[in-house]
Amino acid sequence: MFREAIERMAPYTPGEQPRPGQRLIKLNTNENPYPPSPGVRRAIVANAGATLRLYPSPRADAFVAAAARLYGIPASHILAGNGSDELLSMIFRAALGHGDRVAYAQPTYSLYDTLASIQEARVVAVPLGPDYAPPLDGLARERAQLTVVCSPNSPCGTLAEVDDLDALARRLGRRLLVIDEAYVDFAESNALALVRRHRNVIVLRTLSKSFSLAGMRLGLLFAQTPIIDSLLKVKDSYNLSRIAVAAGAQALDDAEWMRRNVEKVKRTRAMTEERLRAMGFEVPPSSSNFVLARMAGSDMAPLAAALRRRGILVRHFPTSVFRDAIRISIGTPAEMSALFKALASLIKPVAVRGANGRARK
Ligand code: PMP
Repeated sequence: MFREAIERMAPYTPGEQPRPGQRLIKLNTNENPYPPSPGVRRAIVANAGATLRLYPSPRADAFVAAAARLYGIPASHILAGNGSDELLSMIFRAALGHGDRVAYAQPTYSLYDTLASIQEARVVAVPLGPDYAPPLDGLARERAQLTVVCSPNSPCGTLAEVDDLDALARRLGRRLLVIDEAYVDFAESNALALVRRHRNVIVLRTLSKSFSLAGMRLGLLFAQTPIIDSLLKVKDSYNLSRIAVAAGAQALDDAEWMRRNVEKVKRTRAMTEERLRAMGFEVPPSSSNFVLARMAGSDMAPLAAALRRRGILVRHFPTSVFRDAIRISIGTPAEMSALFKALASLIKPVAVRGANGRARK
């Protein structure tokens, strides 16, 4: 019934989402443990009346205007999405046809593979450098039609230097460079300024992580006008609801609330990295709201499953080169204490298994 490429491809697997009422400590999909700004609730209520009979503004005007104010970028250079996943989907649809090449690091956000498969594009997967460094030089040499850099990268949390991204944009010439900055509010620098400097650069942001609004589905795309004009051709007419537009505008106006939550998450992250290392995990320094905890050469699936039985969700990627790791989102200090208590009781009994299936000593 469907194109052969669709029949053949594997679906994207989202992290587990608990059923309503199910009490689990959720450290598997990098949500923010703190609530969104109280102003967001008021904005939602104020927009939940008679105006809902009308379509929303096609370009999410109020949300985009708030983004223009906050980031100092003209509204004509901003496109709003139903989450940054929708913006990624628009980019892949507009940029890639059958057999076109798309390059990104391996491993990275696995949705890129799904979107490439839908387009029947050819994936050029460039391995991470030493110390989990983004392989920007390797990506530049590939000169793919579309290059995507996730910075900070998932699942390892490492950040690409802005100067290096600048050089990559230059080396790619007229070929598109997408910088997916979903987690960048938890980092010390970002690449938004490159949008002014380069005609081929797209920067993506989301309100799902730092702004605590994963449930509202709000993403932002920054690029120069010719890119925006092309992407508008593949955009759904009314891709954000009136409620989402109002909530997003208010959240951006209340950015100070977000910054305070980010500082709390970063403090908990520092403590988490330290304690995991003390337990014997290898933990790359994270610039995001999650950490990768690795025991080289071990299969961490049993540990993730044992944590699940104790009511704690973390992310394990069975097909990734990081099979020997779990990715842990940063929760509240109390949630992290519960995690460490469970890990302390599990690390020996579960005895993370070596490649030969035998328990490691
Ligand atoms: N980019 C990256 C790297 C992500 O991890 C995510 C969240 N899974 C997204 C984009 C999409 O975020 P959203 O659609 O919630 O804006």
